[in-house]
Amino acid sequence: MFLLHTSFITVGFIIFPLCGCDGCVLISCGIFLLLSGLILMFPSACLPSQEVEDAQKIRKTVIECFEKADLPNLDDEARKKLLHFVVVGGGPTGVEFAAQLHDFLAEDLSKLYPTIKDFVKITLLEGTDHILNMFDKRITAFAEDKFKRDGINLRTGSMVVNVSDKDISIKDIKSGSISSEPYGMIVWSTGIGTRPVMIDLMKQIGQGNRRVLATDEWLRVEGSDTIYALGDCATINQRKVMEDIADIFKKADKDNSGTLTVKEFQEVLKDICERYPQLELYLKNKQMHSLVDLLKASKGDIKESVEVDIEEFKSALSQVDMLMKNLPATAQVASQQGVYLANCFNRMEECQKNPEGPLRIRGEGRHRFHPFRYRHLGQFAPLGGEQTAAQLPGDWVSIGHSTQWLWYSVYASKQVSWRTRALVVSDWLRRFIFGRDSSSL
Ligand SMILES: Cc1cc2nc3c(=O)[nH]c(=O)nc-3n(C[C@H](O)[C@H](O)[C@H](O)COP(=O)(O)OP(=O)(O)OC[C@H]3O[C@@H](n4cnc5c(N)ncnc54)[C@H](O)[C@@H]3O)c2cc1C
Repeated sequence: MFLLHTSFITVGFIIFPLCGCDGCVLISCGIFLLLSGLILMFPSACLPSQEVEDAQKIRKTVIECFEKADLPNLDDEARKKLLHFVVVGGGPTGVEFAAQLHDFLAEDLSKLYPTIKDFVKITLLEGTDHILNMFDKRITAFAEDKFKRDGINLRTGSMVVNVSDKDISIKDIKSGSISSEPYGMIVWSTGIGTRPVMIDLMKQIGQGNRRVLATDEWLRVEGSDTIYALGDCATINQRKVMEDIADIFKKADKDNSGTLTVKEFQEVLKDICERYPQLELYLKNKQMHSLVDLLKASKGDIKESVEVDIEEFKSALSQVDMLMKNLPATAQVASQQGVYLANCFNRMEECQKNPEGPLRIRGEGRHRFHPFRYRHLGQFAPLGGEQTAAQLPGDWVSIGHSTQWLWYSVYASKQVSWRTRALVVSDWLRRFIFGRDSSSL
């Protein structure tokens, strides 16, 4: 159960020469869990849940809490404290962890420690009003109901303000009141932060004020031609249409007449949509088929011969950049980026000679490669009790036991090799038959 995350580790930290030259390096370095936005890693009394070692430490701590709570000389208050497990953060990781912890305690440890099982309490703390905010509302509601039914103490609108080695202080956002609760174990799962080695690199390349490395749409670190970054340590800085609007206009206006005709525009349309994917998203949102429709709509003109000048062009595209979003820090993104970069590197020489990317808007010729495009394949939220919620492309929502089987299939199919696939599946079988491993190794 706790080794769940390992199968998602897609690419390790690699620095190796590319394309035969000495200078190119590729960086894929994950980042620690951290209190979002702050430089704090996590309070020292809490356990992070990022690496395999963290998972082992969590399991060991859970077992130790049970072992200590089972000692005969303890009073009930001390037992309650030891068996109070707190999870901070109601995102997908915190929710999955709380659900799995609940199953572990309810299905396995309660049988081994029957006399103290009634002292067990799991608290899930979330600062906003709901858990799983990024999912469809139906999934959020189902998860919250399920947790209540399972007896998980779900506290939304609750911010952790302090953690000492004895208790955790929680502020109720609505009333402003602060309460303290003793605990046996806290797992911190509120977001990710940068590793020191990345902070150093970012300072060196003039990105010292950022949380993650900024790359261009080809995953090249900004300000460098030879460093590439992918996965959790990087974010793509998609260029805005409005930043380049004058250059886009100039590129399309082949006869330098100062106005754009539909024909002129159609010739560069494909390149522009590829270079600025937010444009396609915007058109889809507005239920338009092409940019020409947008220009026509903005001019209120329906003639084929519509012509626009730079000001009209600017006003037609002024809202396009509003739909730009950063990609999530997930394995799905990291693995697609890995495949993309591997393809680019393998074809470096070929594409140098025959560039296949879109037209360079601010320069001459074409880009060597197509820019990276993320394809969202959906998202799962395992909720424990052999139930999972899934939000699949097209906003298709599926919740329940059958979705858990879908999760098993996807999870197994995404393993990097037949060896890991066999290990993971045999782990599941072992758990089905004998229960979870409760040794403190
Ligand atoms: C508990 C948990 C559950 C998750 N569940 C999901 C999920 O269900 N679906 C999903 O899509 N994503 C999930 N994620 C997110 C996913 O794991 C990450 O987005 C993904 O692993 C990022 O890949 P990466 O290669 O960038 O980083 P990592 O997978 O973190 O790999 C980075 C590697 O670099 C190594 N490293 C770091 N610094 C150095 C250094 N200085 N020298 C050498 N090596 C170094 C690290 O040890 C690590 O092995 C989860 C994350 C967590 C923490």
